[in-house]
Amino acid sequence: MRVAIAGGGVAGLMAALLLSRGGHDVDLFEADPSAPPDPAADAFLKWERRGVAQHRLPHQFLGRLREVLRARAPDVLARVLAAGATEHPVYRKIPGGEWLPDDEALTSIFVRRPVFEAVLRGVVAESSVRLHAGVHVDGLLVNDGSARGLRVLAGDCEADLVVDATGRRTAVATWLTEHGLPVPVEERSLCERVYYCRYYRLRDGAEYLDSPSPSGAPLGDIGAIRFNTMRGDNRTFTILVGAPSWDHDYRALREPAAFQAVLGLIPPLAPYISEDFATPITDILAMGGLENVRRHYMGDAVPVLRGLVGIGDSYCHTDPLFGWGASLAAAHAAALADAADTGDVNAALESVIGPTADAAFVGATLEDDARDREARGEVITPDPEREKGAFVRKVVAPASMLDPVIFRAMMRRVMVLDPADAIYQDHDIRARALGLVEKLKAMPRPYPVPTSEDFATAMRGASVPTA
Ligand SMILES: Cc1cc2nc3c(=O)[nH]c(=O)nc-3n(C[C@H](O)[C@H](O)[C@H](O)COP(=O)(O)OP(=O)(O)OC[C@H]3O[C@@H](n4cnc5c(N)ncnc54)[C@H](O)[C@@H]3O)c2cc1C
Repeated sequence: MRVAIAGGGVAGLMAALLLSRGGHDVDLFEADPSAPPDPAADAFLKWERRGVAQHRLPHQFLGRLREVLRARAPDVLARVLAAGATEHPVYRKIPGGEWLPDDEALTSIFVRRPVFEAVLRGVVAESSVRLHAGVHVDGLLVNDGSARGLRVLAGDCEADLVVDATGRRTAVATWLTEHGLPVPVEERSLCERVYYCRYYRLRDGAEYLDSPSPSGAPLGDIGAIRFNTMRGDNRTFTILVGAPSWDHDYRALREPAAFQAVLGLIPPLAPYISEDFATPITDILAMGGLENVRRHYMGDAVPVLRGLVGIGDSYCHTDPLFGWGASLAAAHAAALADAADTGDVNAALESVIGPTADAAFVGATLEDDARDREARGEVITPDPEREKGAFVRKVVAPASMLDPVIFRAMMRRVMVLDPADAIYQDHDIRARALGLVEKLKAMPRPYPVPTSEDFATAMRGASVPTA
């Protein structure tokens, strides 16, 4: 089959690679002109990617992505590791320390996104895929009620299957409207947070620290703030702070001094920002204006356009807090490679990726909504029926650190190995988690928790907030 793919991010590159390895004839169009540097480890600082706003923002690469690579592109995984990434066996944090053979899937990859993408792009460049860099897709070719290819300035590209992998800001609705065709229905919900982050590199002689969290690094919720620490490749790590977008005082976090002052108030982060341990390698990177979106390329069992499919972020994207995007994109690419060998690609693809995307969208929406209402001062009782989002975050997640069965179910959800709604439907998990509520309440906080006023004072003392 001849396939034309618009967009060469993680989704487009993965799809191109897996389709070409399945014997299909693939053209991949990427608007950004620049090629990744060699070695790939330099990509974080040297690879310009204007088409991907989150290019340098921290990414968790979770179990589902790794499983797709292990099964379908082990050479990519090997080259990512050779570029300085490491694998993190989350399953070894299981309470009681007894894991099962299947738990090995609960392993993430520590790598910065530009480095991961540079390796993947390098493998695609060596494959039979015709990679057209610096070529912007302007529209669709449509004939007889089916997609027949992509319109690009340099000349039309005819194809039997057209893939929209152009990311969150896809222009697919415009492309379809130009032909008088229906557009995908969109479901949307807000992520009312701005993410601020900074990258660091370990000093010579320093080694990564361990922490009790599954990722092995500190993370947590303190009032309206969420913080996370993520290891990267080549002795790097990043610290991320998510703050409510409606509270403009937190805009001061764009200033390195205010950012460091806030981190300094969070006890488990103190060793990470010590000058003896690590040195910052970036300014503060920030991103807001985010949403959860599920875009329906398939209506009621009928595609908006036969022969056109969406994958990756254009199909579904969720709050980056969850870190699900690249895993979903890889799963979409694998499902597309399988669907391309069937008689009805649209239906075959949708039947595999639709339910998982629906569950991811609903799960992220429920948790974001509960988090935002709490940050605005609402008191929420985490009820497993009426407040599922709060129940998962405030009961199941902490209970998973005490019970191996809950840990396994929770981590399979976190790592996109099970659909996000499986945990609501599992009555055993619910009962086990509810049975631990009193024990959790009795557990002391592991460190003194700063208040919002402490953060405000630290930010005021460190910098002049932007209006
Ligand atoms: C702040 C932030 C943090 C994130 N953190 C994580 C994380 O921790 N873990 C995780 O798994 N995911 C994370 N994600 C999501 C992740 O980046 C994406 O889900 C994943 O990379 C798949 O994206 P994609 O390939 O579908 O789209 P993109 O990566 O956006 O790629 C789309 C590509 O299409 C190209 N393009 C666009 N329009 C055209 C056109 N008309 N013609 C030709 N080319 C075009 C663009 O240049 C770009 O290269 C995060 C996202 C954000 C915003």
